[in-house]
Amino acid sequence: MAGSTPTHCPYCALQCGMTLTGDGVVAPRDDVPANQGGLCQKGWSAASLLTVPDRLTTPLVRRAPGGPQEPCTWDEALDLITARIRALQGAHGPDAVAVFGGGGLTNEKAYQLGKFARIALRTSQIDYNGRFCMSSAAAASGRAFGMDRGLPGPITDVAEADVILMAGGNVAETMPPFMRHIARQKEAGGALIVIDPRRTATARQADLHLQPTPGTDLALANGLLHLAMTEGYLDEPYIASRTSGFAEVRTVVNGYWPERVERVTGVPVAHMREAVRMLGTARRALVLTARGAEQHAQGVDTVTAFINLALALGLPGRPGSGYGCITGQGNGQGGREHGQKADQLPGYRRIDDPAARTHVAKVWGVDPDALPGPGRSAYELLDALGTDGGPKAMLLFGSNPVVSAPNAASVQDRLDALDLLVVADFVPSETARRADVVLPTAQWAEESGTMTNLEGRVLRRRRAVPPPDGVRTDLEIISALANRLAAPGDWSTDPRAVFGELRAASAGGVADYSGITYERIEAEGGVFWPCPAEDHPGTPRPYLDRFPTPDGRARLLPVEQRGPAEDVDADYPLYLTTGRVLAQYQSGAQTRRVRELTAAAPEPFVEMHPDLAERAGIEDGAPVRVASRRGIAVAKARLTDTIRADTVFMPFHWPGAGRANTLTNAALDPTSRMPEFKVCAVSVAPAG
Ligand code: SF4
Repeated sequence: MAGSTPTHCPYCALQCGMTLTGDGVVAPRDDVPANQGGLCQKGWSAASLLTVPDRLTTPLVRRAPGGPQEPCTWDEALDLITARIRALQGAHGPDAVAVFGGGGLTNEKAYQLGKFARIALRTSQIDYNGRFCMSSAAAASGRAFGMDRGLPGPITDVAEADVILMAGGNVAETMPPFMRHIARQKEAGGALIVIDPRRTATARQADLHLQPTPGTDLALANGLLHLAMTEGYLDEPYIASRTSGFAEVRTVVNGYWPERVERVTGVPVAHMREAVRMLGTARRALVLTARGAEQHAQGVDTVTAFINLALALGLPGRPGSGYGCITGQGNGQGGREHGQKADQLPGYRRIDDPAARTHVAKVWGVDPDALPGPGRSAYELLDALGTDGGPKAMLLFGSNPVVSAPNAASVQDRLDALDLLVVADFVPSETARRADVVLPTAQWAEESGTMTNLEGRVLRRRRAVPPPDGVRTDLEIISALANRLAAPGDWSTDPRAVFGELRAASAGGVADYSGITYERIEAEGGVFWPCPAEDHPGTPRPYLDRFPTPDGRARLLPVEQRGPAEDVDADYPLYLTTGRVLAQYQSGAQTRRVRELTAAAPEPFVEMHPDLAERAGIEDGAPVRVASRRGIAVAKARLTDTIRADTVFMPFHWPGAGRANTLTNAALDPTSRMPEFKVCAVSVAPAG
């Protein structure tokens, strides 16, 4: 590796700035506000990804069902894919072929993949793994504020908040440099409240930890708002001038009196009262949600309850104050803005909006009527694969659903039922190993593009090294397939040219990137969307004067606690919740290949309270059999009194016997179609 290249981490949505120097050495950048010279263990070891021993460098094809994956040429692989697509679509129609994308893809790739599905394949069947990540917060923000942008301002605003309420987020473990901002906030006299069923690394640093029963966050948020009403903390002038819908919310929240909420959530009334006092007396406060509150079959309504609380206290619309979602995946924000979601076109446009279809079709050089309508959401798409009326083929980019999808054993069966599974990846992930065709792709530091971080700031990812011989970029693969399929329009392989087209396609949309250029990102250290013109400064704080709703007001919506889709019972008497650990990332396809990370976090585990372990006859470190209605997982017990005695926790980064997603429930939120990763009913017993 020659010279040094400023770029960003390949993993999470904080998109920490780093420089790749000399012989694959990573150094943190202190000119990037998100990390200000910090990195976590994953970032420090990121360069190891460039030399993983089982790197894919040649296409692979399975020539006979059940046969081995064998090396082939690019022409053979691409010709085979094209011929099978034509045959399957000829026999079953355009929707016989599906596309599955990822929240780690650059904006350019996400855009091009959505376009490829709609005008090269003409299929409605496209979605992506970001549906499993922030979709509930996105839907709730969209309906409350008219816009879904992770944080309401630059991340440095976090330090300005007098109080932060973090619901279902464990940033000390998932994105440690975020804690620098909280440390500054605390140095300035600020306070942190954490809501989490586990006393996590973040909760241990909180001034107040509320530890609810999994699946009861909505009741807790309504209960906090009830107390804010009865104890006189509402910002009545703000409610009157900047919001609508409060009267209906007040009626519903009247029913969430403290003692009732304590019974439902297990959180003592005194703790709730203290949280409300802290929030209600703060001049500026941030209410933040993350996957713990969002990954539920009532995830959208749960986030809405927290947004209602923030609005009733008059928080959104000032620096260091408001509601925000802590986005998870590297390009979780940009990945949901540019068309790889089943119901969206670029610029956060709805695919069923005639004006949006006309605008995007014009940029793409096609008739609007030729664009398909909305397709299935991620889990519904995976669940339909190979069924009567479902897709017969899938092209998958940047995702590993065999490990990361809920009810994963069933998803694995559905993938195996396909006539054609094509996986583009740079390592043989668990999903790639099941594919009929594997396309070896360039990764992170081997290609250029843009990423949009959790602030809504568009950043440059710069190529630091050339990809290995034999490897192609995703844009090159999409272009080659589009040309073979005789698709209309341009299929550039140059990220800058694709970004130029993305700008035009997004112009006038909610996520308007039309004023953002590579040069501006370079010169300004990133640009916040919406940015509708090259002389527009970008929008770091979008809600200062008005909300982007038709009447300029934020909308409060009444929401009721429904409880988990699957509650505990005599057969499955415990709650399972899942999440991440510091040294692994998502399905682990990348981080499980990094020696330092595998040494730090080598295997899955079952975290449980010692009282529960004693009742079940389980010893620390002994194998535990965890059973749900979907399957069985086995992993070693890790005893800790930081978790509720009615709850067990498993990280979800591993395949095989310890795969947490064998157990999880695919019950979907009715609006976001988010699966209920964060709570299901299980039993535990000694394995063996
Ligand atoms: Fe930063 Fe996230 Fe990378 Fe860690 S994984 S270095 S927190 S971007």
